Amino acid sequence: MTSAAPLVVGVDVGGSKVLAAEVGADGTVVATANRVTPGRLVEASLVEDALGLAIAEVARGRRIDAVGVAAAGFVDAAGERVMFAPHLPWREEPVRARLAESWGTVVVLDNDANCTARAELAHGAARGASDALVVTMGTGIGGALVIGGQVQRGRNGMAGEFGHAQVVPDGQPCECGHRGCWEQYSSGNALVRLARGRIGHEPTLLDELCGGDPALLTGPMVTRAAEDGDLVARQAFASVGEWLGVGLANLVAAIDPEVVVVGGGVSAAGDRLLEPARSALGRALVGAAHRVVPPIRRARFGPEAGAVGAALLARAEISRN
Ligand SMILES: [Zn+2]
Repeated sequence: MTSAAPLVVGVDVGGSKVLAAEVGADGTVVATANRVTPGRLVEASLVEDALGLAIAEVARGRRIDAVGVAAAGFVDAAGERVMFAPHLPWREEPVRARLAESWGTVVVLDNDANCTARAELAHGAARGASDALVVTMGTGIGGALVIGGQVQRGRNGMAGEFGHAQVVPDGQPCECGHRGCWEQYSSGNALVRLARGRIGHEPTLLDELCGGDPALLTGPMVTRAAEDGDLVARQAFASVGEWLGVGLANLVAAIDPEVVVVGGGVSAAGDRLLEPARSALGRALVGAAHRVVPPIRRARFGPEAGAVGAALLARAEISRN
């Protein structure tokens, strides 16, 4: 009798969407399913229901052997609790054990950017690197720090939360409660805010894409308009990309990594985001003319990187047992 290959699912829960993926042992994505994240001011159970529906759609009635959850928030060092998540309702909650009980399967939990880093280190754009920076751009900015080939979790499990570094004193308010955080200038939210502010003031395809209501504008609409040559959308990307490079220059100055990997939903825009970031990094990095400036690479796994890394962590967990 031969036993079937284990079914391992990774699920990435971000501020705007839930992405579940069946992932093979080599990191290959076999199938995906999406759900809208119900919000950050709702009962946590609503978000957990959305996760359950997404993984059930991927499983199509098969028994799931393990699920890795990549959460856009601070996960404790033990991988048990989501301590705080600016864009989700979880507050110091034992999410791992609760989902394992609810789903009746092995569940592992880590921060989404840490998961992205695991995927990119194992099979992607940071493969073979000893020291790397990984930044995920979605609703906000997540980050992971790789030193000596290992994802660093820090004392509280909160290492690599670069998105809430203050870059503008008394700047834009952030959902974390502070002002002037990096992700307020370089993220999907920032992209939409910049583009939205110009609708009605100058001609732009975005007017039509959002049906005349700027409140309905989304990041993918800005990406589409930029692809169609829209100046407002392209300038929003140029600004977000430049802020990306400026923030990275600070991090590279601190860490001196071999490579910088950018993932998350906004990274789907590719060089439209990364070229202005490379230019800004070259300008802003201390001693740039006298050092090897690390390449800024797009995550190989793109928007699926978090789910893939979470699945790899889940697979490692069941192969240990
Ligand atoms: Zn913040």
